[in-house]
Amino acid sequence: MSTQPFEPKAASLPTGLVQIEDPIEKVIRERLAEERTRLEQEAGVAQKETHHFKRPTENPFTRKQRGHTTLLFGGLTWKHEKLVHGAFEGLGYLAEAIPVPDVAAFQLGKEYGNNGQCNPTYFTVGNLVQYLQKLEEQGLSKQEIIDRYVFLTAGACGPCRFGMYEAEYRLALRNSGFDGFRVLLFQQSGGLNQSDAEVGLEMNPDFFLGILNALNCGDVLNEVAYALRPFETNVGETDRTLDEAMDYMHEVFTKKQPWRINDELTGFLGNFKNTAEYIGKFVNQLKSDDITAPLERCRDMFNQVEVDRLRVKPIVKITGEFWAQTTEGDGNFNMFRFLEREGAQVLVEPIGTWIMYMIHQVVQKYNDLKGLEEGAVMPPMWRLDKRLPIEMNFRNKVAKLKLAEAIFKREYHRIVDAMGGVAHHLADQYELQRMGHPFYNSRAGGGEGHLEVAKNIYYSNKDLAHMVLSVKPFGCMPSTQSDGAQAAVVSAFKDIIYLPIETSGEGEINAHSRVQMALGEAKNKAKAEFALALSNTGLTLETCREWVDAHPETKRPMYQVPHKKGVVGGAANFVHHIAERIKAESWQPTQAAALVN
Ligand code: SF4
Repeated sequence: MSTQPFEPKAASLPTGLVQIEDPIEKVIRERLAEERTRLEQEAGVAQKETHHFKRPTENPFTRKQRGHTTLLFGGLTWKHEKLVHGAFEGLGYLAEAIPVPDVAAFQLGKEYGNNGQCNPTYFTVGNLVQYLQKLEEQGLSKQEIIDRYVFLTAGACGPCRFGMYEAEYRLALRNSGFDGFRVLLFQQSGGLNQSDAEVGLEMNPDFFLGILNALNCGDVLNEVAYALRPFETNVGETDRTLDEAMDYMHEVFTKKQPWRINDELTGFLGNFKNTAEYIGKFVNQLKSDDITAPLERCRDMFNQVEVDRLRVKPIVKITGEFWAQTTEGDGNFNMFRFLEREGAQVLVEPIGTWIMYMIHQVVQKYNDLKGLEEGAVMPPMWRLDKRLPIEMNFRNKVAKLKLAEAIFKREYHRIVDAMGGVAHHLADQYELQRMGHPFYNSRAGGGEGHLEVAKNIYYSNKDLAHMVLSVKPFGCMPSTQSDGAQAAVVSAFKDIIYLPIETSGEGEINAHSRVQMALGEAKNKAKAEFALALSNTGLTLETCREWVDAHPETKRPMYQVPHKKGVVGGAANFVHHIAERIKAESWQPTQAAALVN
């Protein structure tokens, strides 16, 4: 039914005649219009002028500008960023990582952004504005900053606020006087074909391989440092080694040249050159030791750090929203350092899990839709001519994604192995889905989706953590959803120590005190487990220490201690291992240690 108001139509006049409006008709028309407006206002259906959002025209970043334009990026840990920086430089870009955001950045985000955003939006958006303002303070004019810098960030069109980050950046930049500053989007769904001969940032295989290698190395080096620091005998040794290793790996990435077909072969391959080069790059990635060999050197550096494995530490697994669980600053109340100060061993979350999750979600979507576009219907059985191409296309896409999954996992694990096997392998996404789905529908997208719930079960059930701490940003929609599901998880798995913490720009003391309380419980759990290990093996702490002194290789971080089923803590696992070694070696403690026994 038409919603247009009734308008009497004027009778058409013979050509050449001009209609003179009757004054009474005019009054009636005006009264009618007034009355309509009044009634519409009364009913609250007054017609307003509609202003549709139009994406502002972006100033381009061209290839010619590369030599004098700096790519800004951030949002991860300094370790990831340092290696990504190296990868960018290796690819020929000028790049700078913006520092980890602090509360002042959060406040700028609130000042210049929209109301009602989630916490990471304020922190990251404000951080960019803060950085640009600092450049201005250093003497650059606004126009110079706009001309000489671009910001690169991840983008999506997901159901949570992540899909609005780009618009938020633009709004805050405009409000803070940097209108026209370029924000480049690294789309999750972008694929590899975004390159164009003239674009400044070429998102080609070299770009993706460089970034993924840097992120994976960042994940593993980060985890190794967190695994060692609580046990180091000489305070500060891990951080010193980490600095050294990061400088070295940064240089490796800076000097790493993308694989290319040599000039003699180029002529011979003719039109197949691009395909051959594409395949060659992937084969080189899988076969070469460009990254693993330097990492082995880093492993040897870390192996110089002396550790005391008999320190009883509760393992706290960090989960939650992607940014909040990754950042190492005010964005999550400096939680990792706080936990370490309080005597915990922090098990950080790798970015690799999230990348695997992204691939897994796409595979799941293809499987659900069987290769059909959203809303399309499968042709009837007898239309084989139509069904067959759909089926083939679907299988082809899923096979490619599964291959990508397998390759990514393999590459990640090569890095873990090169670093001495200290970091964990990536959690299997299919297992996470099986665990999480009964509590949180794995088709529900946004943020970490079912991962938050699944990881809580995974790390507790597999004896990998004494406690799970979930950092959830204020105003995060998916985290709010999973909070409800976690209540069901905790009641189904009674032994889990799970604590959700809402992170914001304020309330640090309150959050720390809540963590302290839950951590007390986790410490007791770790101590009880250690005491049980001693009593089950019949060893004392002194005997263990004497055995360790007689076996100095076990003070090295790369010495492998097997994981015993049902035992979480490093110290308790070590006691079981010592008992087995003592038995195998028929080793005898000295009289003094035996007396204590
Ligand atoms: S997952 Fe939550 S915190 Fe992260 S962008 Fe989405 S709404 Fe914001």
